[in-house]
Amino acid sequence: MVHGSGWWGFTRDTDARPDISTRLLMRVWGYARPYRKLIVYVLGAIVVKTLLDTMMPLIVRALIDTAIPEKNFALLNLLALGLVAIPALGGLVDVWQRRHSAIVGEGIIRDLRCALYGHIQRMSLRFFTHTKSGELISRLNNDVVGSQRAITGTLIDLITNVVTLSITLVVMLSLNWRLTLLAAAVLPLFILPAQRVGRTLRRISRQQMDANATMTAQMQETLNVSGSLLVKLFGREPEELAKFSERAGKVRDLGVRSALVGRGFFVVVGLVAAMGTAVVYWLGGYLAITTTTFQVGDIVAFAMYLPRLYGPLAALASARVDLATSLVSFERVFEVLDLPLEVADAPDARPLPPVAGEVAFESVSFSYLDEVAGETPILTPREGDASGPIRPITSRRWAVEDLSFVVRPGQLAALVGPSGAGKTTVTYLLPRLYDPSQGAIRIDGHDLREVTLASLADAIGMVTQESFLFHDTLRANLLFAKPDATEAEMMAACKAANIDDLISALPDGYDTIVGERGYRFSGGEKQRIAIARVILKDPRILVLDEATSSLDSESERLIQAALEPLMAERTSIVIAHRLSTILAADIILVIDQGRLVEHGTHSELLAQDGLYARLYQTQFRLQEATAPIAAVAAPMISEN
Ligand code: ATP
Repeated sequence: MVHGSGWWGFTRDTDARPDISTRLLMRVWGYARPYRKLIVYVLGAIVVKTLLDTMMPLIVRALIDTAIPEKNFALLNLLALGLVAIPALGGLVDVWQRRHSAIVGEGIIRDLRCALYGHIQRMSLRFFTHTKSGELISRLNNDVVGSQRAITGTLIDLITNVVTLSITLVVMLSLNWRLTLLAAAVLPLFILPAQRVGRTLRRISRQQMDANATMTAQMQETLNVSGSLLVKLFGREPEELAKFSERAGKVRDLGVRSALVGRGFFVVVGLVAAMGTAVVYWLGGYLAITTTTFQVGDIVAFAMYLPRLYGPLAALASARVDLATSLVSFERVFEVLDLPLEVADAPDARPLPPVAGEVAFESVSFSYLDEVAGETPILTPREGDASGPIRPITSRRWAVEDLSFVVRPGQLAALVGPSGAGKTTVTYLLPRLYDPSQGAIRIDGHDLREVTLASLADAIGMVTQESFLFHDTLRANLLFAKPDATEAEMMAACKAANIDDLISALPDGYDTIVGERGYRFSGGEKQRIAIARVILKDPRILVLDEATSSLDSESERLIQAALEPLMAERTSIVIAHRLSTILAADIILVIDQGRLVEHGTHSELLAQDGLYARLYQTQFRLQEATAPIAAVAAPMISEN
């Protein structure tokens, strides 16, 4: 069931009291573990730096109370030198510490990103059809960076503050315990405000993340070829700008609020610190006047220690909230990593043995609205997202129902049926883009769920209506099918696909950048590039979705010539829109409302005078006038 809100924390109640569970911390530690040696270095550096900083007030005290009254020039020189040398050394230790904590933080980012990328990649097609790409990018970027900050920012700050506070307290207590307790007495005055501010800042920062994500999503949807084309064609620029301006305005308002909340708090901290300082000078002065044990140097040293007492304490007052806030990023990353894989290798999956190419559907039913392990792995949109939450699904409708057929090795099967009948769905089930809800699909008798996805991908070449080319060179796009293909193999594939002349004529040849989604090429050219890619892959089973749009006869002739040898050698399952394909098919499968209603050859089906005969009369027969009947299938296709 897809819930309207609260998909594994995507729209989790952000104001709920933060909870730092041991389980979460242990899991975070799991990612930090490989860097434990570096973490020990960092901790060591923090202690050394704090000890060095703690020496400064003691040097000043020795200057005032010993070197000056005793007119000891040697000591004066030494102490003055110390006032320079110690901060210099402290600076070096600090740089060293930051370098190592950066290595740890960046290392964890890399590991988390790779884990996330790998997991999302293995999610099923259902996941991608329900998820905005902007949301995924945001998980890979913002949340992973947030996780890094939790380690190199919050956790390191926490440790530094605890160390600074402990060492400062020990030194101050040893100097004068009464004065120390008095200086600490003002602390409750800012612990409460600190906690409140921490919570408010946390809420605002979560709202900022959401507002930024909404703004980014709009940019991603409208600032690309397809999106901008749509905006232009409908003349929606002013409306889009207005929407963007509103979203950007929200980001601005939250930024201003966040800046103000922080400032107000620091004013309070400053005031409280001033009160503590006043107490120290007043009581210290009193003690220095009335006793001989307390001297001017002690007062100055005390005053110098105060910021090192108040600063860490103020930070630690809201540390729990800070830590929980920064761990939210880890939680969000883990939520994605925990999404169940709908289509995955079975634990005992074996690679498909060399494939002959028999494809069998056995009582296969499939519904797009199926649920996986009680919950569909879908990212619900964020709060305030224009599209709103996905509605709970209550009923199920079969896209394919009780479908059984066998295609023998090397045969050509044509899928025919009205729009929305389920033809595309059948072709999606074969490479396991989805798994059947009921029944089984077999290749050479092997249930697809028992073989490895990698070997299945090797066996099947899928060519869909919509071409997709990466924004890269032609060479990179072609070699995507077979990275180790030689230059000669690549050129041979392009020759077979009748695209080599065109590529050779380009100034950059195979190094031409295809443009986003291949916009640089015409529909027919893209189809031939796509065919070359499948020829390079050389699968045993070919799945084609013929394009319904028509090309000029020259382009069509080139494509037909490219496909003939490709289809002749392998099992082909084709969503047929061409008369030539259905005439050449060994078996025609007629699908209506997800069910196989008729099957047989062209003449057998015509004789039945059923749905096929009607489709033939209304769709395919018209092509007789325009296209010659080819002996071999000659569809127009584009590949995915
Ligand atoms: P056409 O010839 O128009 O491409 P088709 O025969 O290929 O149609 P399918 O795309 O397989 O039909 O669709 C079968 C049914 O499943 C249709 O009712 C369609 O609305 C539905 N459907 C397809 N894809 C999804 C999806 N991702 N989620 C939900 N329903 C879907």
